[in-house]
Amino acid sequence: MPSMYPTRGGADWAFLADARLPNPAALVPAMLRRMTNHPIALVTGANKGIGREVARRLAELGKTVLVGARDRARGEAAVADLRAITPNVHLIVLDTTDDTSLARAAKDVAERFGRLDILVNNAAIASGSAPASQQTVAAMRELFATNVFGVVAVTQAFLPLLAGSPSPRIVNVSTSLGSLQLADPDTAVSQQATQWFGYAASKTALNAFTVRLASELRATAIKVNSACPGFVATDLNGHRGHRTVQQGADIVVHLATLPADGPSGGFFNDAGRVPW
Ligand code: NAP
Repeated sequence: MPSMYPTRGGADWAFLADARLPNPAALVPAMLRRMTNHPIALVTGANKGIGREVARRLAELGKTVLVGARDRARGEAAVADLRAITPNVHLIVLDTTDDTSLARAAKDVAERFGRLDILVNNAAIASGSAPASQQTVAAMRELFATNVFGVVAVTQAFLPLLAGSPSPRIVNVSTSLGSLQLADPDTAVSQQATQWFGYAASKTALNAFTVRLASELRATAIKVNSACPGFVATDLNGHRGHRTVQQGADIVVHLATLPADGPSGGFFNDAGRVPW
């Protein structure tokens, strides 16, 4: 049986059809699918901060944007604002740490849109982070639950829908604090990573997911990359960041809209590649 996944080099990725969703093409009437010609992008945690700006920018670029938000009211407020740009903005209620919420969201997207072109894994938390000697395991579990396991679960749930796209893109929003090579203790990045061990370690693990998933999917058209937005003023850091959400969103939007000859399996910020 031919694979339903877009391939490069003729490899057969039919084994991915074992993922949780049935063939999305079978779920949506052909007429409805033809109505959604715009590329479809899902951004998790898009009700505020960098995620919301990424959603706004993708809407400006003409994508149909699915605003992922765990809280319906906060999500609806963001969608109402973004509808000033384009009507093609829709709320997807999605708590990335809740399997039931995730299954419902994936089914919702399958039924309403039939495919996904761009997945931006943006949702994350940083609270509970502490230096390694004092990091509580309980807080670290919560950090990993959102920043790592949530991303793995969301990605696996939406891979079958990404398979319906001619140019699928996955962006994992990471941070240079997760870099093990930027370990010179005299640098600001290293000092911050030392203070925020739990958060930094979760992003190191997230980067491992980027590398391994990109390697696994290298014969397909799916590109998977990590993005570092820099130190951006948001709720995540009590607005201490020196960059704007507009600046932070630049690299995320760039990786979400890479051309066919763009990279996969990399870690990038505005200046280029970030060392692992
Ligand atoms: P933010 O303003 O705190 O926004 C985080 C978003 O994630 C919120 O929408 C939040 O929803 C959502 N979220 C958290 N847990 C969730 C869950 N379980 N399910 C669904 N949504 C969830 O943070 P931000 O600074 O924009 O961060 C966005 C991304 O950039 C994160 O991946 C972060 O690690 C990364 N980053 C940020 C900086 C920076 O300096 N700000 C630097 C490097 C990387 P609620 O509103 O419901 O809480």
